[in-house]
Amino acid sequence: MYPEDDLLPLSALQHLAFCERQWGLIHLEQQWNENRLTAEGRLLHENADSETTEIRDGVRTCRGLRVRSLKYGIAGRADVVEFGPDGPRPVEYKRGKPKKDDIDEVQLCAQALCLEEMLGVSIPEGSLFYGEPRRRTPVIFDQTLRQRVEILIRRLHELTRAALTPHPVYAPKCRSCSLLEVCGPKATGGKSAKQYLKTALREVLDGGGVRGVE
Ligand code: SF4
Repeated sequence: MYPEDDLLPLSALQHLAFCERQWGLIHLEQQWNENRLTAEGRLLHENADSETTEIRDGVRTCRGLRVRSLKYGIAGRADVVEFGPDGPRPVEYKRGKPKKDDIDEVQLCAQALCLEEMLGVSIPEGSLFYGEPRRRTPVIFDQTLRQRVEILIRRLHELTRAALTPHPVYAPKCRSCSLLEVCGPKATGGKSAKQYLKTALREVLDGGGVRGVE
């Protein structure tokens, strides 16, 4: 069991699942660049995170519910949790269309693991609500997804303890990454953003110019 002080943000899992270096830049180096995609996502979440509760047709809907797991050492907020006759169901709001990867499913399943521990119940299923089309997609929390989330959580704790930003690996996903410019996966030669800027500054001071910077 992790002590409350050692809980890591649940939101870090989606950054880690997307790219370990992106996780390092955001969570270790506090770099954040907002692009159109992240701004739209943030606005959508601000509506869902408003900490309200309503009851309609026998279903209690809690928005912005704080969740945590001492077993897994994570904490965060669930956009929406519905408490109906079939038990709790987390619902996560996302901009755009369903993604090709499983990042959204990972985040939702991590919320379910927290809720299961907090409430002492089993949660077999949740939903993702996408802006396009505006409808819900059910997500089954099967063993494969649960194991994927558990592996990511272990990696999250390992990387946090090591406190090292992983090296960049250029891939097609880099084109949609909000940190593309900060990361410079083609220009930094595998160094962390801090290391790269330090080296570049040293080269300028030594009169050698800055490699990769026009
Ligand atoms: S630009 Fe590419 S390597 Fe760099 S953080 Fe983004 S996804 Fe990762």
